[in-house]
This record gives sequence, structure tokens and C-alpha cells, in this order.
Amino acid sequence: MLIHREAKRDIPVVENVDVVVCGGGPAGIAAAIACARQGARTRLIELHGCLGGVWTTGALSWIIDSADKPGIMAEITARLDAREARSLRVQGGKNYAYDVEEMKLLLDEMCVEAGVEIRLLTRVVGAACDSENRLSVVVTESKTGREAWHALAFIDATGDGDLGAVSGCGFDVGHPETGDVQPMSLMALITGLQFDQIEPYVGGSMTEPKQRLSALMHEIGVPPSYGHPTLFRIRDTLFALMGNHQYGVKCDDAQAITEATIRARREIHTQVVALRARGGVWSNMRVVSTGAQIGIREGRRLRGRYEVTGTDILHGVRFEDAVCRVTMGIDVHSTDPAKTKTVEAKPHRSRPYDIPLRALIARDVDGLLMAGRCISGDFIAHSSYRVTGNAVAMGQAAGVCAAKSALSDRLPHEVPWREVKADLDAINTGADKTSEKNMGCAF
Ligand SMILES: Cc1cc2nc3c(=O)[nH]c(=O)nc-3n(C[C@H](O)[C@H](O)[C@H](O)COP(=O)(O)OP(=O)(O)OC[C@H]3O[C@@H](n4cnc5c(N)ncnc54)[C@H](O)[C@@H]3O)c2cc1C
Repeated sequence: MLIHREAKRDIPVVENVDVVVCGGGPAGIAAAIACARQGARTRLIELHGCLGGVWTTGALSWIIDSADKPGIMAEITARLDAREARSLRVQGGKNYAYDVEEMKLLLDEMCVEAGVEIRLLTRVVGAACDSENRLSVVVTESKTGREAWHALAFIDATGDGDLGAVSGCGFDVGHPETGDVQPMSLMALITGLQFDQIEPYVGGSMTEPKQRLSALMHEIGVPPSYGHPTLFRIRDTLFALMGNHQYGVKCDDAQAITEATIRARREIHTQVVALRARGGVWSNMRVVSTGAQIGIREGRRLRGRYEVTGTDILHGVRFEDAVCRVTMGIDVHSTDPAKTKTVEAKPHRSRPYDIPLRALIARDVDGLLMAGRCISGDFIAHSSYRVTGNAVAMGQAAGVCAAKSALSDRLPHEVPWREVKADLDAINTGADKTSEKNMGCAF
């Protein structure tokens, strides 16, 4: 392979803050809001042009495992309701659909109100640790050029564990024996349908509507690469479609992700054209947009001070330093389309279980926390805790711990659990009142 050697160069340290949160998805926004509400100067760095990650850039439209999550998750739900941006006729129980564009606006507002300093369109590409192995700087690339950001604590909420990887943190990817990863899916927003006319085909949590839609797609000559294509109802005429699987694509292979995105977008449009040609209730069906970023189910799982395992979730493990109780079951989307195009057989049932704070604190690098799908867990546990209700709860806890660490000059693992718990309890019971205190802040 030809090598191009980069010249050494000096990079300006553009900011020195208490906490830098990398990645503004469900975990990252919660981390940044919680951190800033603690009084820590907080910088949030996001790759895309809006906050929300898979919620917005990914056009996901469907939130799982949020029902019993207090604090910031409950606040988001209430504020979506206040702007009539949540599907009130929820299909299949405790999960819900939301309006993607309203979510973008809401997350901007919540972060600005909390005093989070936001940088969009900026990618974390490097990091440096000091002589004591404490992460001290992240390096980014953007239209402004290469910049360095100094902080006392950092949170990796990039989903794929990008910050952990460039910091020298150990990680695992995929199945422990094969390395196979769950497939990616590109989401699409759909209009031109009437809920009352297509109700039998609509459902986030129920299997029968997906089977009907799959059967219909087979009948009209567009067998879906995801065997359980799903229509989520956002409003009476606005839907989200998850109808494809892109198998065997790794989160760090930009060329493979590019090709998967092109394949997925072509499949979505082919499905919609075929359904429209079917006529009747489908005759006005149109794609409003596809996600700006294909949905990545599985990236790096960074090694933490505790690894959540499939055995833990079999037994419904409880921890003293629990930051989140997961009720979502095991959900491994097929790694091998020759075997199934839906989800793989569960190795066992899971019982509601806890995520301990230690799984959010990096093992190999000091001063680094993780939140969301890149926390420390094994292949099976990850397939369960990765959903967004849990990502928000983890982000909230990581934000509180990072703020305490930075404001008291201790490393995250040196902050006693009782201190983190006291503040999380206040947030979760509404006793902190910080969301009101910070209203009306800047820009
Ligand atoms: C197709 C699909 C369907 C799913 N279905 C559901 C569902 O129905 N309901 C549900 O609740 N969950 C679902 N999940 C799971 C869930 O969406 C994720 O696990 C969840 O997004 C985790 O949140 P996160 O904040 O950790 O990651 P993400 O949402 O991926 O957010 C990561 C953020 O970091 C940013 N970022 C990445 N790299 C960098 C970098 N180097 N520098 C700066 N920023 C960076 C990204 O742009 C993004 O905004 C689904 C996932 C996929 C892919």
C-alpha cells in the first residue's frame, strides 16, 4: 500500500471547558443537558447538521423502552406532547412514534436552555492523553479546519465509540466468535397514506402487521431484505418505513457504508413505487425523505470498568450503582440472511436488569465516560440495552458523573456513587428544578 506521510502541524486549542460530549444522539444530548444543568461548562460536538442522531439524522421515528424512564426522557416525552409531536394512538403498547422535525427543534431548545455550547458539522478524529493516561484533548475536523478541545472530562456518545477508539481504549465489535455484526437499515419518511385505510399493515411492536406488509411486498414482486418491514404511524398521513437490512457492514468501513446506503435507498424507492402501482389505498404513497445517515445498529463496544453480559440479563441482575433499568428483550437482527431476514432466535429470555455506572466508565483511559450503544457490554446484552429510552438514561447519568468529576477535580471513577445517585434521584423526581432554572439561556 502506498503511504502518504502527513506533515506535523500545530493545532489550535480553541476551548478549555469542563466537559466535552462527543456525539449528539439520544445519549449525547441527555449527557450534555444533564452535565450543563449541574453547572459544568459543557461543549457538545456533533457530526451532522442537527442534534438527535438516529432519532433525527436517522429518521428513526420510534422510541423504545422509555415508558419507565424518569428525568430527561420523561421531559422529552412531555415536551413532545406539548407540541403535539407524539403519536397518541400508540400501536402495541409502551413505545411511541414522534415527529422527526419537531424532535430536531426540541433538542436544540433543550440544549440551548441548559446552556450547552453546541458545535454541529464537526467530526471527532483524534485525541490525546496526558502523561498519566488521562484524556485531555479531542481533535476535530470541520469546515473551520482542524481544532483541539481541552476538557477535564469527556463523554463518548458517538454510538460507534469513535472517541474511545482514537483515545486508545480497548473495544469489541460484533459476535464474539465470528465478529459478525447486526445489519444496518436506512429509514424513510412516507406520506400519501391514510392510517384508517392501512391500519392492518401498521405497527411498531406487533408482528402481524409486519408479516402482512412482507407478504404484500412479496406478492407485488419486491421481497424486502428485512423480513419484518415495518410502518410506524407518526400522524394520520405521515409514516416511517423500516423495510431493509444491509448485512455484514462494519461501522468503520466508509466505502461499505456508502454502498449499503445506495442499495438501501434504491430498495426503499423500489418498494414505494411497487406499492403505489398496486393502487387502491397505496396509490398516493410517496417517499418524503430517506435518513441522512443509514442506521447503524452495532459499532464498537468500549471496554469499561464493568461489562454487562448476556448472563446478567438472563438473571435480571441488580446493581447498587444502577443508572438505568432495561426492560427491552434480546433483539439481534439477523447477521446471516441465508438463515433469516428477521431477528435471530433468542439464546434465552432476558429479565429487566440494571446497567451499572461502572459500565459507563472507560477501563483503559482515565477521564472518559461512555453513554448509549457504545458502553461496555457483550454482543447479546448490547442487542437489548441499545434502544433509545435506555440511551437517554445512560446519557443523563454519564453527564452527572462527568460534571461532578470535572467540578471537583476527581476522575469519574473516583466520584462516589452516593454523590451521583443523590443528583440522579433529584433529577428523576423533579426535585432539582434545573430545567426551569436554566430556561431562557443564550443564543
Ligand atoms: C435501523 C435501526 C432501527 C432501530 N430501531 C429502534 C427503535 O425502533 N427504537 C429505539 O428506541 N431504538 C432503535 N434502534 C436502536 C437505537 O437507535 C440506537 O442504539 C441509539 O441510536 C443509541 O443512541 P446513541 O446516542 O448511542 O447513538 P446514535 O443515535 O447513533 O448517536 C450518535 C451520534 O454521534 C454522532 N457521531 C458519530 N460519530 C461521531 C464523530 N466521530 N464525531 C462527532 N459526532 C459523531 C452521530 O452523528 C450521532 O448524532 C434502532 C437502531 C437502528 C440502527
